[in-house]
Amino acid sequence: YYIGFCGAMDSKYAVLEKYFGYTSFLPGQEEIIDAVLAGRDVLAVMATGGGKSLCYQLPALVFGGLTVVVSPLIALMKDQVDSLRANGIPAATINSSLGYGEQRIIERVILEGRIRILYVSPERAVQPFFLSLLAKADLRLVAIDEAHCISMWGHNFRPEYRRLRVLKERFPAVPIIALTATAIPAVQNDIVVQLALKNPARFIGSFNRKNLMYRVVPKARYFPRLVAYLHEHQNDAGIIYCFSQKATEELAEKLQKEGFSALPYHAGLPDDVRAEHQEAFIRGDVMIICATVAFGMGINKPDVRFVIHTDLPRDLESYYQETGRAGRDGEAADCILFYSRGDYGTIRYLIEKEYNDPAQKDIAYRKAGMMLDYCETTGCRRKFLLTYFGEAYPEERCGGCDRCETPVKVFDGTEVATTIITCIRGIGERFGASYVVDVLTGSKSARIRENGHDTLPVYNSGRGYTRDQWLRFVQEMVQKGFITSTGGRYPVLVLNDRSRAVLKGELPVPLTEPGPEGVIALRAEAD
Ligand code: ADP
Ligand code: ZN
Repeated sequence: YYIGFCGAMDSKYAVLEKYFGYTSFLPGQEEIIDAVLAGRDVLAVMATGGGKSLCYQLPALVFGGLTVVVSPLIALMKDQVDSLRANGIPAATINSSLGYGEQRIIERVILEGRIRILYVSPERAVQPFFLSLLAKADLRLVAIDEAHCISMWGHNFRPEYRRLRVLKERFPAVPIIALTATAIPAVQNDIVVQLALKNPARFIGSFNRKNLMYRVVPKARYFPRLVAYLHEHQNDAGIIYCFSQKATEELAEKLQKEGFSALPYHAGLPDDVRAEHQEAFIRGDVMIICATVAFGMGINKPDVRFVIHTDLPRDLESYYQETGRAGRDGEAADCILFYSRGDYGTIRYLIEKEYNDPAQKDIAYRKAGMMLDYCETTGCRRKFLLTYFGEAYPEERCGGCDRCETPVKVFDGTEVATTIITCIRGIGERFGASYVVDVLTGSKSARIRENGHDTLPVYNSGRGYTRDQWLRFVQEMVQKGFITSTGGRYPVLVLNDRSRAVLKGELPVPLTEPGPEGVIALRAEAD
């Protein structure tokens, strides 16, 4: 039943048309495919939907022999195999759901050279028995999908991915292509090192989604503003992400009461209900889906006009992935985040619960910190996002985010900055932002008294601005490099060369005028 024969050594264009029915490549595909065909190791970073599969499927057909694809998700493997077979490409998967007899048959046809593309799990890929099967087969290419799973810096670390290094050790002459949609620079380097890729060709596609508009809005009493927005977008389909299952149901109900067509979606709903709600949304029978992050995997609805977050996502990878479900059709779409500093507490709770390994915990805190920095940046949001993903964005302003729409006003904040730096120095560079601001605003906290910091000249010198405004200034100074935050779980503020230059009066500090909105508040700290 492994139908079809596919002639090896067809040209890439012939294969593209004959087996995939496309007449041209998507951006980046051809360069990647050329590098693979030239026998190089390749790291390919491409946004979701960018067409990664073709980058190894097409070379597999041109090479002939056997291509092994390592993939972490059995369900997705099966879909891929089915669609390849439907195109007349002999593909198969070996996984634990197969019976013994079925596995033996597949092994035999592999050795007979009748399978072109074989999907396996990472656990299977490193089994000695499987490796010796590959040694006897005509192995031409290894593709490692979702390669970010190899890195603790990725958003889905899987220790078993680390063992995939054995593939390069056992088959040094076989090129490896590693693919992922989410790679901050630290992840990219990790992939190359961990898989022992040899002088790999790196292709980093653009992550810029030009048609998406990014906004961050204060979360306090957000419901009426949400309703107002939805009234203006009556005919648009959209996703509203909530943190908890309960919140999705409550929000859907509240929106229904306001007359909107909304349904909840989360992993706790019975399978049939969940499937029904998803279908209704995709068909357009319901306009708004209130969902947990469980919603969206593998869903392709091109005309999602807005993605709204009522709670803070835990990192920018998640946020980018979730907002990426808007505007797949290329038409304008909104990404709105209701932001409150209080949500950081929930994230901290999750991180503490989820990770035991201190290194992983620290990474998770750093990422959560970047998520907050995104919310609080006074600069262009798009530039912030793209910079985070390691992509150079040459413009200072994108014109497609709230910060570019209404740029913040800047004033000469040198005096404010000097006060903050003096305070940090005065307390010995041993405390976080909220402690610093407590000292400045004359807090009566016992801790400050015990430390004797209520006797410093800067104590209570910060009248004229509110606590939130001071926090905002501190945050901005960190972002602009006038002071340094050690980051991690208990961030501490310390001075750097620029801080010292400010103290000497050598460096002016432009800061953002506190707005009438009362300024978006800062992160809570662990003290
Ligand atoms: P990714 O794995 O990067 O998310 P896929 O490989 O699933 O992306 O491809 C995304 C979509 O693009 C699929 O529907 C696929 O059929 C389509 N696609 C891939 N390559 C091409 C091409 N050269 N021309 C047109 N469509 C393509
Ligand atoms: Zn912008």
